[in-house]
Amino acid sequence: MTRHRAAFLDRDGTMIEDVGYLDRLERLKLFPYTVHAVGLLKRAGFKVIVVTSQNGVANGVLTEEFVSEAHAHLSRVFEAAGTSVEGYYYCPHSPHASVERYRVDCECRKPKPGMILAAASDHEIDLERSFVVGDRWRDIEMGLSAGTRAILVQTGYGRTEAARPPANVSGVPVVANLIEAVSVILRKGV
Ligand SMILES: [Mg+2]
Ligand SMILES: [Zn+2]
Repeated sequence: MTRHRAAFLDRDGTMIEDVGYLDRLERLKLFPYTVHAVGLLKRAGFKVIVVTSQNGVANGVLTEEFVSEAHAHLSRVFEAAGTSVEGYYYCPHSPHASVERYRVDCECRKPKPGMILAAASDHEIDLERSFVVGDRWRDIEMGLSAGTRAILVQTGYGRTEAARPPANVSGVPVVANLIEAVSVILRKGV
């Protein structure tokens, strides 16, 4: 059985502008290269999977229904451009959630690898040949602890994050943005 390579993409600050809590579709702004980046990854045989923390759900400022609506909107944008992503995984939990049912010490909160592991099992993914791209070190740590490679982008929080790498992380490429991350991934071949 051939297992698939995947690109696990963080959403806020990596694929779309980080506007704090995204709670209205009017505030959803893709970076200008995001659709192209997804298309390139797909054409190279990667499954593209979105992995996102949605603390706003835990804090009661947005609903899971809205998170799904935002993802349906993204899917329509990708489809209109002739491409698509395979799936969306999000963590609505927080140990400090103001909404009680989301106050869980879950396995999917970054940097824990739960979202990656769930996606890997749903989509038959070879983690060693896969990548996480994100703008926070906790995205990177999530990937590394699941056994993927990882790339930090300097959009969103990335510029600040790049200035203070955690002691336990080394050898992670830091690039300007998602489209540069994709060219690094495609150059590495394999
Ligand atoms: Mg982010
Ligand atoms: Zn969670």
